[in-house]
Amino acid sequence: MKKLLILSDLGLKPTRVGLIKNNGRPAGSLHIAAVARSLGVDATNLDYWREWPLELLKTSILKWFGDSDGIWLALSGSIDGSSTDDFKSLVLELKKDIPHLKVILGGYRVVVGDSSWVDVSFVGRSTNIFSEWIQGKDISKYVFATDPLTLKNPPTKILENPVCPVPIETDFWQSGEFFTIELALGCKFNCSFCGYDFRNNKNPMLATKDAVVESLETAYNKFGMTNFILADDTINEVDSKLLLLSDVVKDLSFEPSFMAFVRLDVLAAQQHQIELLKASRINTMFFGIESLNPNVTKMIRKGGRSEKNLDTLRLLKQEYPEAFTYANFIIGLTGDSEESIWHYNHIIADEQLLTSAGCNALRLYRDLSNKDIMSDIDLNPEKFGYTPLDDTQEWKELGYSSSSWKNDWTNLSAASTLSAKVDRFFAKNLTSAYTAHEIAGLQALGLNMSIPDYNNTLPLLNRKRDIVVKKYIKEKSAWLQGF
Ligand code: SF4
Repeated sequence: MKKLLILSDLGLKPTRVGLIKNNGRPAGSLHIAAVARSLGVDATNLDYWREWPLELLKTSILKWFGDSDGIWLALSGSIDGSSTDDFKSLVLELKKDIPHLKVILGGYRVVVGDSSWVDVSFVGRSTNIFSEWIQGKDISKYVFATDPLTLKNPPTKILENPVCPVPIETDFWQSGEFFTIELALGCKFNCSFCGYDFRNNKNPMLATKDAVVESLETAYNKFGMTNFILADDTINEVDSKLLLLSDVVKDLSFEPSFMAFVRLDVLAAQQHQIELLKASRINTMFFGIESLNPNVTKMIRKGGRSEKNLDTLRLLKQEYPEAFTYANFIIGLTGDSEESIWHYNHIIADEQLLTSAGCNALRLYRDLSNKDIMSDIDLNPEKFGYTPLDDTQEWKELGYSSSSWKNDWTNLSAASTLSAKVDRFFAKNLTSAYTAHEIAGLQALGLNMSIPDYNNTLPLLNRKRDIVVKKYIKEKSAWLQGF
């Protein structure tokens, strides 16, 4: 029987109060293992792999593979490809004992640098290709590159269902972890800075209610998990996603907490969605506001008048005071100004309209081999008022570079300085220093603190999280070795 082991690790996350150690796992790699099992492959996941003691990791992998001849080791690189170098070292080590080991890479980036150690790479959403490949079918129409063999779907087409994994015993889940699912694929908008490959899609593909209920009920009944992250790029651009989730929540035997990406301008135009967010128990929200300056919102194709957006934050605070609301801003957008940025920052802080907020300077991605994840601004910066400059910053481990730029009022260097200042301002003047994802993960640890208390207790939270991961490593390694 063929064997497939998929490694994943979401890694560390720098926050404004220190490094958070992740306590969740990527849904995609769980899904791929489940698909492989359904096709007769003996497949399992090995998570948090960079935290395993190296000898234990090697022994566990070698014992689990045993003397099978068809063995595949895969890395789920997710969007962050930074673990590839460590994975390569592990592969080269393992090949000393099992030279016939085959290697798969999965993620949004194509392989960069030396690829002689990789047998096949799946780029982007590609469960359909993986499934055909594993069955030995002809996959020639998906070939994107040959060195190494790189397989990829045509751009923008949704060819698979949303991912709602069902957690299983042999993955040793614990209540101290968060669990990720997605309700739908596709977003009807086409924001100019967005790199989501299924944007500009009028017909989102929804998960079935049964699939969502099964995933969530199993997570709770078998493992006590109640904190969930919705991977959907936007949860409210149409009501149907919220209606699905609120319907699911009614049928659950427990009270879940969800974190989701919410569009503020849509909420402003569809204020009845506040009730749907409450009914769906989406109590942690990430708003990609980007800018409240009306000169900017049209250019980035994220609409909404600034006063209406601010009024919606006021209403949300009044109607849903227990919700954690985080907003992200992009500093340096064409048409913006430092004066306008500070004007809105002060309104937000003075009225405490958000629980937390943060920002980053606009980055222009260059030379991505997978162009599907480049935004319209990346592809055509001049059209949006940016002049790319010669100096580029290389992100070799991720396989791309970003270039400096200037526009009507600033440049990358000045925007980065301003962004750091604004970020510090929000961290100091709003209740929480964490993003929506960060607080959702920390809350899953189950310490039930008030939101401000999380700001001062990161070492304690990380220790609690280490206990969870150590228990996982102990149980999973024993299982892999057949104890
Ligand atoms: S930024 Fe959000 S709303 Fe805009 S296209 Fe991307 S996913 Fe859709």
